[in-house]
Amino acid sequence: MSEQQELGITESKEYATGEWYAEVIQKAELADYAPMGGFIVTRPRGYALWENLQSHLDSWFKDTGVTNAYFPVFIPESYLEKEKDIVEGFDPEVAWVTKGGYDELEEPLAVRPTSESIITPFLAQWTRSHRDLPHRVNQWCSVVRWEATETKPFFRTKEFLWQEGHTAHEDEDGAWDETMTRLSQYERLYEDVLAIPVLKGRKPAHDKFPGAHTTTTVEALMPDGKSVQGGTSHYLGTSFAEAYDVTYVDEDEEEQTAHTTSWGLSWRALGALIMTHSDDQGLVVPPAMAPTQVVIVPIWQEDTKDDVLEYAQDLEAELGDRYRVKLDDRDERNPGFKFNEWELKGVPLRVEVGPNEVEDEEVTLNHRPDGESETVDREGLVETVDDHLDAIFAKLKARAEENLEENVREAESREEILGTLGQHKGYVKAPWCGDEACEEPIKDAMAAEIVMVPLDRDAEPIGDECAICGADAEETAYFAKSY
Ligand SMILES: [Zn+2]
Repeated sequence: MSEQQELGITESKEYATGEWYAEVIQKAELADYAPMGGFIVTRPRGYALWENLQSHLDSWFKDTGVTNAYFPVFIPESYLEKEKDIVEGFDPEVAWVTKGGYDELEEPLAVRPTSESIITPFLAQWTRSHRDLPHRVNQWCSVVRWEATETKPFFRTKEFLWQEGHTAHEDEDGAWDETMTRLSQYERLYEDVLAIPVLKGRKPAHDKFPGAHTTTTVEALMPDGKSVQGGTSHYLGTSFAEAYDVTYVDEDEEEQTAHTTSWGLSWRALGALIMTHSDDQGLVVPPAMAPTQVVIVPIWQEDTKDDVLEYAQDLEAELGDRYRVKLDDRDERNPGFKFNEWELKGVPLRVEVGPNEVEDEEVTLNHRPDGESETVDREGLVETVDDHLDAIFAKLKARAEENLEENVREAESREEILGTLGQHKGYVKAPWCGDEACEEPIKDAMAAEIVMVPLDRDAEPIGDECAICGADAEETAYFAKSY
């Protein structure tokens, strides 16, 4: 019993966010720490979150011309080196295999940090004429980046799950449309499935994906005021196509270089999901993401047990056709214990059934995020549950939206940027000259950086002079601390 009594979360989200997060991850049975630093074991309830995310994104990809493929986990050194920018970009984080069995390999193999350098050469092989374009492939896989930072499940791990899409197009317009299509799908995933509003923007030039023409991003604000880079979509221009020779013959029989894109979203989205909605009772997730969407808890005495259980089983059968349902009919646990356990594990809707409900042909519904409770008719329950799940989603979304709306501020000087970030965190917008050097004083003083600039390159900056150096402002920088 003692182990079970420790089910609840002991840390506070507000006052010890990091410890609280780690506790939710482990106690909601999402992940464990692997024996090697930087790696985690994703448990079934955690992996179910990933599968639910995947099912949405994957179907949207397929609806818009993407097919899935799979490339090797290893990349020959010579391939990685063909694009100097990539090597420089990822070099310090690449893990290498140098031996196979007892033998030194003739050529070291990199464990993929991302797959442009192995996928692009094949896009080249498969492309002859303009009729072959566009090419769109995506793979769901893991990549490895050997960062020496503290392990934070789903946020910071050396190996992480993601999808990476790679496309080739005839021209800039096609590739740019593709870049924006994928960014919009990431936005849709966050806003419509994860119940997290995001800001769409561009990374500043000094923080682009190595070799990219433009890196676009969706940024999500966490309740602790830090920003999460939620997914990135890169317009790569012709740099990768030139390095790997992706050329095609156009309608006039002229040889042309393709324009390529790549776009990726990782399980960091799960970190953002857990961080955004969960509370001091444990995991909270919106219904579409929940491994179990509805839990039925029967409440009986010895003399009512049979009737209550039968009633609950009927409900399970009826709701089970439409939702991921669990009937918790364990004899050895009392209802209060069950309530706590399913709250901890993030089941959005609880259905309570006791002798009164059986007699009146009703059920009592209870919302996970706030405990709101309502007794409703048994008849039409499937539709009623639908409405309640929608209401739960709306509550979560509204709370996250409020957090974002209240935490975008403006500043006009270095002192103001630092003061505002120090007091409120969140995003601080400031006019900026575009020079990386002007990010340094903010970075040095409080580990905040420019997480994005507006997507629209022609957007007027919010002031005439760079808040740091006073030179002419080129764009509006969004400063924030980030995960
Ligand atoms: Zn400046």
